[in-house]
Amino acid sequence: MTSFESLGLCPPLLKALAGEGYTAPTPIQAQAIPFVLAGRDVQGIAQTGTGKTAAFALPILQRLADNKRQPARGGCRVLVLSPTRELASQIAESFKTYGKHMGTRVTVMFGGVPKGRQARAMANGVDVLVATPGRLIDHMQDRTVRLDGVEVFVLDEADHMLDLGFVIPIRRIASQIPAQRQTLFFSATMPTEIGNLAKGMLNDPAHVAVAPVATTVERVDQAVIFVDTARKRHVLFDLLTDHTTGRTLVFTRTKHGADRVVKHLEESGMPAAAIHGNKSQGQRERALADFRSGAVRVLIATDIAARGIDVDGVTHVINYDLPNVPESYVHRIGRTARAGADGQAISLCAPDERAFLKSIEKLTRNRVPVMNQPISGQRPQRAAA
Ligand code: AMP
Repeated sequence: MTSFESLGLCPPLLKALAGEGYTAPTPIQAQAIPFVLAGRDVQGIAQTGTGKTAAFALPILQRLADNKRQPARGGCRVLVLSPTRELASQIAESFKTYGKHMGTRVTVMFGGVPKGRQARAMANGVDVLVATPGRLIDHMQDRTVRLDGVEVFVLDEADHMLDLGFVIPIRRIASQIPAQRQTLFFSATMPTEIGNLAKGMLNDPAHVAVAPVATTVERVDQAVIFVDTARKRHVLFDLLTDHTTGRTLVFTRTKHGADRVVKHLEESGMPAAAIHGNKSQGQRERALADFRSGAVRVLIATDIAARGIDVDGVTHVINYDLPNVPESYVHRIGRTARAGADGQAISLCAPDERAFLKSIEKLTRNRVPVMNQPISGQRPQRAAA
């Protein structure tokens, strides 16, 4: 399995990642980090939720640290363009978090707030500037920002930029950046217009891609069972004893929740193993090996522990708790139906989790069909529509 160490990341970054509880790179990170570290241009197809921010932020931070330089007044070494202020803030926060042991200077600028503070933040130059295109152009016109020292240019969510009418401003910004630069171009989809924009900006790019949310969601047969928290363990047991359930991954939101589920299952005579952040590396490896070999059929995991796990033949994903981050739902259900196989994802939704289900349905643009609670010994039935 790829690790952050084996990707060649330096100790200050590894320390920050450990602090965040990241145990393994996500697929887009494993693919993109080596190319970015090697100085290549990259064209990536990845959506928010795939870990794409760290896929570019980590290797960029490393390159900055390998070659320390004082940026010019009003200048930056890295420019990241983002379509919305929310995303721009998140990206800037990610750079700050991952670069916290490296003294990286990061600033963010977007419209709707006064320009003065943003200009002052740029006065002595920064390592990383994250900006929305409109406000950046304002600052360029005011001469409070200069782009002639940019070494790395990142364009994030290019298709969203196109929807918002930012293509001309982007071309204008790109024309002010030295041609001798590294360019990273990310988009969730690659329609012709975006492909053409990429072609004009990239030099012999490496291509990286992960399956978009929609593809994952379409491939997996999903269902939700409405159930009170107190009954969840009985419902889980009934689902697991149904003859169609094979190798099953059960997700809980917390580590304690995972341990409790294992205990209940074992008390009912069903062997199960758990992986989460409180388990030692040895315990996790053993649990995974047992799950892979079929020695245990049921593995209970938390979201973070499950990142980077790649086990084939998972027939079912059961969300014992619904995730509060909707993107995690897509990651979870993507663990089944790998490599074109069929898979089913069943979510147990307690009354206080209805809001989580709503956010998931909004993100995936998909209504999850309702399934009746299984009656012990019988196959669960789809509820009448
Ligand atoms: P992004 O796709 O960049 O918006 O990231 C989605 C979420 O995944 C963010 O909350 C990140 O903090 C988190 N994340 C990114 N990489 C990892 C990783 N390797 N392990 C665990 N969580 C991660």
